[in-house]
Amino acid sequence: MKVALVTGASSGIGESTALELHKAGYTVYAAARRVQRMEGLAAQGIRVLEMDVTRDESMVEGVKKIIAETGRIDVLVNNAGYGSYGAVEDVPLDEAKYQFEVNVFGLARLVQLVAPNMREQRSGRIVNVSSIGGRIYEPLGAWYHSTKFAVEGLSDSLRLELKPFGIDVVVIQPGGIKTEWGGIAVENMQKTSGGGAYKEQVRQLSGLFSQADRGSEPKVIADVIVKAAQARRPRTRYAA
Ligand code: NDP
Repeated sequence: MKVALVTGASSGIGESTALELHKAGYTVYAAARRVQRMEGLAAQGIRVLEMDVTRDESMVEGVKKIIAETGRIDVLVNNAGYGSYGAVEDVPLDEAKYQFEVNVFGLARLVQLVAPNMREQRSGRIVNVSSIGGRIYEPLGAWYHSTKFAVEGLSDSLRLELKPFGIDVVVIQPGGIKTEWGGIAVENMQKTSGGGAYKEQVRQLSGLFSQADRGSEPKVIADVIVKAAQARRPRTRYAA
């Protein structure tokens, strides 16, 4: 039995990844805050965990439960995340810090909790969902890009640390994907910067993020994540 934990599984890329890993034969634990949004996954035999990646105890409990039930974790997909957008001048630093809590520290804490089990198994794969925004940048996205650049750097260092223990670290860089992500980013930037000096830039970027045909279906990335989880010799990065 191979066991996978997928965070941010209540919608978008994470939901699709949980399904595709399940289809590929993994025992899948789907984690997010909105458990009711994962009833469809539960109906298909996927195990659901209530998890907030900014709350330490919920991550500790979640990992404990998986180990108690299965004794192992083979794949950790660190996917939970959102886009905090707005001008650097305008975004309150508490919001910027929360963006880091979710996109970077939540991911890092799960690595801390899961890596000891993987080291004992002498195998495992950590798949960190970054973004094309972890390679390039745009105005109003400073905090989002900062978190994704951090995910890239953290993952590269972690890969070297964990290699001797038989654990691979892989980075996924999605481009535009049709999920709830765009709507949340637009809401954020309009709240912080929509009425001020940056309103024209906010208007333009909101238009771009709101396009109905923006990007690919989540399954495109889910398939890449499954490939990254299963590859005998995974690449360091997969972009799609
Ligand atoms: P969605 O908004 O559809 O999904 C985001 C998921 O993250 C939800 O399941 C949400 O669950 C979860 N999440 C958010 N905050 C928390 C939290 N504090 N604790 C636990 N879970 C949380 O967006 P996507 O599927 O698009 O995003 C998935 C990943 O892909 C993100 O890291 C995103 O940055 C990245 N990405 C997305 C792109 C896109 O164009 N869509 C492009 C590049 C990267 P819940 O609210 O129930 O907790």
